[in-house]
Amino acid sequence: MRATVIRYEASHLAMGTEFTLVSYGDDAQYLAAVGNEVFEEIDRLDAQLSKYNTKSEISLINRTAGGRSVRVEPKLFELLAKSIDYSQSTEGAFDVTSGPLMKAWGFFPGQGRVPAGCEIAQVLRRVGHRHLHLNGADRTIHFDAEGLELDLGAIGKGYAVDRAVDILRRYGVTQALVSSGTSSLYALGAPQGARGWPISLRNPYKKERAANVIYLRNCALSTSGNYEKFFRVGAKMYAHILDPTTGKPVENMLAAIVLAPRAGDADALSTAFYVMGVERSRDYLATHPNLMALFYLPRGKKPKFRRVVLRSAPSNTGGAFFARITNRKGESTKTSRKASFRSTPGHSPTPLAEPSPAWLFADRGPLV
Ligand code: ADP
Ligand code: MG
Repeated sequence: MRATVIRYEASHLAMGTEFTLVSYGDDAQYLAAVGNEVFEEIDRLDAQLSKYNTKSEISLINRTAGGRSVRVEPKLFELLAKSIDYSQSTEGAFDVTSGPLMKAWGFFPGQGRVPAGCEIAQVLRRVGHRHLHLNGADRTIHFDAEGLELDLGAIGKGYAVDRAVDILRRYGVTQALVSSGTSSLYALGAPQGARGWPISLRNPYKKERAANVIYLRNCALSTSGNYEKFFRVGAKMYAHILDPTTGKPVENMLAAIVLAPRAGDADALSTAFYVMGVERSRDYLATHPNLMALFYLPRGKKPKFRRVVLRSAPSNTGGAFFARITNRKGESTKTSRKASFRSTPGHSPTPLAEPSPAWLFADRGPLV
């Protein structure tokens, strides 16, 4: 007799958002125990990475690395090294030193404000990955400018999802969806009886509605949207992703969504692509395999918006994910040839069986 399939679902508040885990297996207690491990790990990461917690390792680095070299825990050192790599490969669009700019624009804490040009110029002196010096020999970090600070807000939640997935894999869980609120998620395997985890991508103008539904298997997805954190001055809206080269919030972008084999990468790149826009992101994808990007851009009057989908070449080794995008009715989104979706090598090229609309609406995935 076949064992009954158990569905486990739990949520947990950390990193200023709600992490959710859904998993399938044949033992409810086992799934719950693994779930507890996952959330404990996420809490450990929150305690280490939060810039809001004065006792975190990040806060300690922010307080002291301006004056002397500070030794860093090995995994955090790797994450910082990766962050600097992303700053370099995105020509500064992604930059973990953007914290002082966030403060100047009143995003942390506060209501938002528009700083004067001279104030932005002042703050920019304390921003820039070039001021971070990592020394691999003794695993230390040093800042060569006063007032610099690290803010892992654009990579930490995705990184935490990856660490959660590592735990799930270690414990033999093969079907799970881990998400860090509306930021990042990883679809491990597929839910019982389906070929992918359905994920609803938020309509940028109507937050509670889906603009597209996307099916994922063994793939991470992150979103960076202008609707997450923003303030208005008159008719103008200022959103929480800043271009570290101009020191100003990015305009003319509603959302950048990135699919990648790992959630930390998807998280960093969704922020970077939001800053870079379509054309610079296209250049990035031309030299970086195994990525897909979806942009929602303003078009004419609200609530109209335009979609652009880009995909980089699959590499022979990496083709780990499967994705298919549909609109809310379950129809495949019209895409240009460049933007068409195919399963990557290693997976069946046959399209996903079209789910019934009832299933789409009754049991659609989390809105991200
Ligand atoms: P979310 O927090 O919804 O996942 P993002 O991953 O795009 O959204 O991260 C946005 C956060 O990252 C901001 O709230 C801020 O703390 C920080 N940030 C803003 N601009 C940048 C940037 N250009 N590079 C790196 N971090 C940034
Ligand atoms: Mg991000």
